[in-house]
Amino acid sequence: MEIRRFFVDSSDICNNVVTLTGDEFSHMVKVLRYKVGFKAVVCANDGIERLCTVKEIGKDFATLIIEQETVQDVKNAHVTLFAGLLKNSKLDFVVQKSVELGVDEIIPFTSHNCAETKFAKDRAEKIALEAAKQCGSAYLSKVCSLENFDEVLARFKDFDTVLFAYENEKKNRIKDCRIDGKNVALVVGPEGGFTPDETEKAKECGATIVTLGRRILRAETASIVSCALLLDHLGELDYE
Ligand code: SAM
Repeated sequence: MEIRRFFVDSSDICNNVVTLTGDEFSHMVKVLRYKVGFKAVVCANDGIERLCTVKEIGKDFATLIIEQETVQDVKNAHVTLFAGLLKNSKLDFVVQKSVELGVDEIIPFTSHNCAETKFAKDRAEKIALEAAKQCGSAYLSKVCSLENFDEVLARFKDFDTVLFAYENEKKNRIKDCRIDGKNVALVVGPEGGFTPDETEKAKECGATIVTLGRRILRAETASIVSCALLLDHLGELDYE
């Protein structure tokens, strides 16, 4: 029987007992037909994998006993991707790929050249959960609510380093950037890109403008490439 992965809040763990409720309970019991005695890996967005055995299955909860804890992944930094809102399911694709790569938070935003205005947060959260399970992550990336560009700019002060991908930048590459501190943000524009004014404002708010090369990448490509380059630069793609 395949040992499946489930995510809980740290508040669902008391001593060596995990209580599973809500969607993860339904998925375990109703979809995967788990029974008492079955094994599961439980994560609480802390890099720890908890090998557990199902002890009790109630009407709307299950309790599991933790048998073994393994530190699977210690992060060097916390990476937030600010992603310009994209049409159709392209932002879903960005959420899925950035979770697989190890991005910690994804914050969608609208800006002047955004064609899209709606964001289905619930759907994106489900995609993030599935992606974290599929890639065997011990962290569950957080999908945040939609923000506008001014709100994004106002958040820059919360980060040690902000990298702003701009297709007209010709010099600064991510691998040449000095990354101060552990709380790092990456900003990638929508299909229509950033206006020069938006880029200027980002600079004034402390962002480092970076290039992803001479070719103009689709927004979803740019998110994946920039996340991979940044995470590798931070040592987050090291296996150990
Ligand atoms: N305005 C662009 C154009 O002329 O077609 C379209 C923007 S591009 C599709 C979407 C976003 O990806 C940009 O806002 C930027 O954040 C990022 N991007 C794409 N190519 C890039 C590059 N070569 N260097 C830096 N950022 C890039």
